[in-house]
Amino acid sequence: MPKQVKIKYTQLFIDNEFVDAVSGRKFPTKNPVNDEVIALISEGDKADVDKAVDAAKRAFDRNSTWRQMNPYIRGQLMHKLADLITRDLDYIATLETLDNGKTYANAVDDIQASVAFLRYYAGWCDKIQGSTIPTGDTKVTLTQREPIGVVGQIIPWNYPFMMLIWKWGPALATGCTLILKPAEQTPLTALYAAALAKEAGFPAGVVNVIPGYGPTAGAAIAEHSEIRKVSFTGSTEIGHIIMAAAAKSNLKRVSLELGGKSPLVIFDDADVKEAAKIAHDAIFSNHGQNCCAGSRTFVHSKIYDEFIKHAKQLALARKVGDPFNSETDQGPQIDQDMVDKIMILINSGKQEGAIVEAGGNRTGNTGYFVEPTVFSNVTDDMRIAKEEIFGPVQTILKFDTLDEVIERANRTNYGLASGVITKDINKALKFAQAIEAGSVWVNCYDAITPQTPFGGFKGSGIGRELGEEGLKEYLEIKTISIKITKEN
Ligand code: ADP
Repeated sequence: MPKQVKIKYTQLFIDNEFVDAVSGRKFPTKNPVNDEVIALISEGDKADVDKAVDAAKRAFDRNSTWRQMNPYIRGQLMHKLADLITRDLDYIATLETLDNGKTYANAVDDIQASVAFLRYYAGWCDKIQGSTIPTGDTKVTLTQREPIGVVGQIIPWNYPFMMLIWKWGPALATGCTLILKPAEQTPLTALYAAALAKEAGFPAGVVNVIPGYGPTAGAAIAEHSEIRKVSFTGSTEIGHIIMAAAAKSNLKRVSLELGGKSPLVIFDDADVKEAAKIAHDAIFSNHGQNCCAGSRTFVHSKIYDEFIKHAKQLALARKVGDPFNSETDQGPQIDQDMVDKIMILINSGKQEGAIVEAGGNRTGNTGYFVEPTVFSNVTDDMRIAKEEIFGPVQTILKFDTLDEVIERANRTNYGLASGVITKDINKALKFAQAIEAGSVWVNCYDAITPQTPFGGFKGSGIGRELGEEGLKEYLEIKTISIKITKEN
């Protein structure tokens, strides 16, 4: 049974206050375990985004408390927020599991990781520096890095709290003010985070949270002419729309973290059992609802049959059920739309001749549960090898040579992540040099840390999150040239 929790916040958060939507409308957020309504949430739209932008602009005024604040103190506020998140970890993780369906253990991991991401960026506040540039002896030229200003942030439902912190960390560290729209499926932890930001002491208007739908609240952010940057994580399809809206409105800066079909390549010198476990976690973690999931498992022909045996065993052993049960590995998918999409792709795999080694069906009478599914005999032309499934479906392809697998791995418009498992350093490095992806994980997967940049090549995105690169996405560079007079 899901834990019983009191839902404390259901309204929009603007200018440090919880308020109803201008329209008065509300939308339900549901528990994916049983489709029951957890709470009715105020539904933001353009009028609410306008209000939030006004508040964020005031907070970014030249003379505002936020702009005048010593950057060290800004860092202390961020650390205070991290302290409060740690204090309320159990409550936040419970909300996350209720709203998203991920296991409680995974939710705890996400929140703990979020604290680390936030503290990493807190440390940057007073270390954002410009440079001095030689331009001859008649001038002194220097650069300074300044916050972009009011930023819009649109996030998905797969890691609701962690994605929020990925967005807030660099925006707050640089001194921007923000309007965040959580996904309509998972607004609860974002609203709670807003309350914690107020408790931590962020001035009014620095943080605003507007739950609502994509084509209304999300579009209002992307189109707003006074939002100077939009940072979006979600599907490639919506990424195109966001970028077009930014181009049409005010040329706001855009960073996009989009979909993937990431290859994980396993050579014949690998420890097969260990490789199968890495590959299993690479695809099944977070129920396959992961933009950098290892969703094309390429296995060398010499170890293919043995690998399939292990992959199948691991998938069959995976316990699907109540995400609050500590024995559970996999809870429900997020909603009916996602289950429909996953089942269409699973059925296409069956029809196109892939072999179902495990799973292949929905499970349970209520909720959005899908069996951990393993396909062997997958070929590059099948839909399950080309399209992002975003579900618990492993597709295993066979290869023979390094050059062949590099060419096949790159034959996609996605380029988010990749992995290679081998004991041969030359193979690993050749792969790492040749692969078109923002991350290459050698003998591991999902090695994401606060200080390492993350983002996509090609259709998987624009810009980077995390690390110093992630910070730059929220900064403008100003060049100041000072003439030295001859009088002295
Ligand atoms: P997913 O497939 O993961 O649901 P989406 O790209 O549809 O990904 O959604 C990610 C986020 O983008 C959500 O917050 C959603 O509300 C928002 N969104 C969806 N459509 C639009 C749109 N037209 N404009 C702006 N934001 C949108």
